[in-house]
Amino acid sequence: MTEKQASQEIVIGIDLGTTNSLAAIVGKDGPRILHQRDGEALIPSVVSFLDDGSHIVGEKARHRAVTHPRHTVHSVKRLMGQNIDEVKQRESDRLGYQVVQAKDSLLARIDIDGKLYTPQEISAMILGEVRRTAEEALGKPVKSAVITVPAYFDDAQRQATRDAAKIAGLQALRIVNEPTAAALAYGLDTSREGTVVVYDLGGGTFDVSVLKITQGVYKVSATAGNTHLGGDDFDMLIVDFILDAVKEHIASDATIPPEAMQQIRLSAEQLKQQLSASETAALEIDLDLEEPVHFTLSRADFETAIRPLIDETLACCHSALTDAGIQPEAVDEVVMVGGSTRIPLVRQLVEKDLGRKLHVELDPDRVVALGASIQADILSGGTKDLLLLDVIPLSLGIETVGGAFSKLVTRNSTVPARATEMFSTSVDDQTSIEINVFQGERELVRDCRQLGAFKLRGIPPMPAGLPRVEVTFLVDADGVLTVTSREQRSEVEASIEVVPSHGLTRDEVKDIIRNSIKMARDDFLARDLVELRNKANNLATGTRRVLAMPEMPFTDEQRQDLETDLAHLDSLAKGEDIAELRAKCDAFGEKTQALADQAIGEAIKAELNREQSKLPSSPQQP
Ligand code: ADP
Ligand code: MG
Repeated sequence: MTEKQASQEIVIGIDLGTTNSLAAIVGKDGPRILHQRDGEALIPSVVSFLDDGSHIVGEKARHRAVTHPRHTVHSVKRLMGQNIDEVKQRESDRLGYQVVQAKDSLLARIDIDGKLYTPQEISAMILGEVRRTAEEALGKPVKSAVITVPAYFDDAQRQATRDAAKIAGLQALRIVNEPTAAALAYGLDTSREGTVVVYDLGGGTFDVSVLKITQGVYKVSATAGNTHLGGDDFDMLIVDFILDAVKEHIASDATIPPEAMQQIRLSAEQLKQQLSASETAALEIDLDLEEPVHFTLSRADFETAIRPLIDETLACCHSALTDAGIQPEAVDEVVMVGGSTRIPLVRQLVEKDLGRKLHVELDPDRVVALGASIQADILSGGTKDLLLLDVIPLSLGIETVGGAFSKLVTRNSTVPARATEMFSTSVDDQTSIEINVFQGERELVRDCRQLGAFKLRGIPPMPAGLPRVEVTFLVDADGVLTVTSREQRSEVEASIEVVPSHGLTRDEVKDIIRNSIKMARDDFLARDLVELRNKANNLATGTRRVLAMPEMPFTDEQRQDLETDLAHLDSLAKGEDIAELRAKCDAFGEKTQALADQAIGEAIKAELNREQSKLPSSPQQP
C-alpha cells in the first residue's frame, strides 16, 4: 500500500540525527538539501523549553544547553523506544535533563518541571522543525517522508520513530537504515555487487556497518560501534585544553559560571572545525577579566589527543568485518559519513587501515539525508529501477506440537519477506487451532520471544492431519509482520498484525544469536526428542485408527502384539531416552509397514504413512 503513492505527491528524505537533523529531496537536477532561511542545512536535534511552556528547536535551543540544562533536551534519539533501566544504565547522568519512568509502562519519559514528554514527542518537535524548513524551501505542504535510523535500531525503536513522524503530521513511508541511505547517495547500488563499509562518526555516536549489495539489494551484514564516541568527545578534549589555559588567568579556587562553560564548549567545537581546514586555530575567550584570554591550538596537539578514540573506531571496523566474515582486502568501497569524518586524521587513518580510497565526495553530514531522498523518490514513483531492502534481525515462526519452534522467515531475510507453510491438526475433530507467533534463534519456543497469538476457528470436524492449514508470514517493507492462517477445505481464515510492543536492544539481539550458537547441541537434542515424540504419537494414532476399523483382518494375537507395542511406545515417548525411542519408532514403523504391505490395501497404507510431522500445537478441543 505504501508503495503506490500518487506520483505527484512530495516525499522528502529526513536524516533524524542524534546531533543534527536535515531534509533533502530529489528535484529535476537530482538530490538536493533543503536549507533553512538562513542558509543552514543542519538543524541541531535539540529542543529547549522556555519559562512559558513553549519550546524552541535547533541552533537557538542548542545555545541554551549549558545555561538551562534541565530544560534543554539533546540526544533524544538515545531514548527512543527504550526502557528506563536501559537509559539509566547507558546514559547514567550524561543527559543534563531528567529522565523518569512512565506511569503506565517501563518506558523512559522526559520530565520538564513535572510535565512528562515521550521521546517520540520530543523527536516530533524536531521533525516538525525539519518539516517546516522543507515546506518553506519548497513552498508546498509536505506530508510524507522517508526517515533514516541506525542499522542496529530494533522494532521498538523503529516504531517509536514512525510514531514521532505521525505526531509531527508526517507519514513515514519507509524507515531506512542510515548506512544503506549513505551507500545509496553514492550510487553504490545497481549493477555492481560488492561489500561496502560505512564508517559513520557523528556528534555523539560511532557506527560502522558492513553492507553487502547483490543485484540492487542491500543487506546489512554486520554492525559495530560505540554509542558514546563522537565529535562531542573531541570537543571536550579541547575544552580541557582551554580550561588549562584559562586557569592560569584566574584564582585557583574560582569556579567558571555555566554561561562561560557554555561559551567555552561552543568555542571548542569551532576550534575543532577550524582545525579540519588549517594547521592552527585561535580564539579569544572573554571571561570578564581585564583582558580576554588568548588561546591557540595546533592540529598536531589536537590529533595526539584524539588519536586513541580514532584507534577505537578502527578496532570496531575490524570486529564488524569479522562478524560479517569478510577479510579487509575483500572490501570494495568505504563510505565516510558524519560531520566528524571531516577531520583529516580520521580520513587518513581509516584509509590507511582499510587500504581503500574513501568516498568523501559528498558532504559527510548530508549524505544520509541525500540517500533518504533517493529512497523517497523511488517511493513517490520517480526512480523505478532501484530496489531497496533491509533485513529481518531475528527469525520469525510459530509453535508446533511439543513446543518446537518452526521458523518461517529466517534471520537476515530481506524485507519485504513472505513465507507460507502447510500445517495440520494433531487431534481428531479439532475445530480450532491456536497459532502462537515467536521470534528467536533457538529450537524450542520456550527459549524464544512470543510476539502474539491468535485462533483459527470454525474448522469442520475432520480426522487429525486432514485439515490443510496454510500459514503465511508477511513482513512488509516497514518490518510490520502479518500472520494469516487459512484452512483450505473450509476456507476459514484468521490473522493478526504484530507490531512488537517492546523491542530488543542491539546487545540483546547479539545475546540471542550468541546463545543460539552456544546452545546449539542442547537445542538439537531437545528438538530431536520433540520430533521423535511427535513421530511416536503419530504412529500410535494411525495404528489405533486402523485397529479400530471393523473390516481389518487382524488375528487376536496380532492385535495383542500391537497393543503391547503401543503401550511400550507410549511409555518411551513420555521418557527422555532419545536413542531407545528412536529405535522403537523405527522398529514399530517397519512392523506396521510390513503389516500394511502384507494384508492391507492402499488406503490403509496412506493412513499409516500420513505425514504429520508438523502440527500446530496447543490444539483447542471443541
Ligand atoms: P549526528 O549524525 O550525530 O547527528 P553529524 O553527522 O551532524 O551528527 O555530526 C556532527 C558532528 O560533526 C559534531 O560533533 C560536529 O562538531 C562535527 N563536525 C562538523 N563539521 C566538522 C568539521 N569541519 N571538522 C570536525 N568536526 C566537524
Ligand atoms: Mg548521523
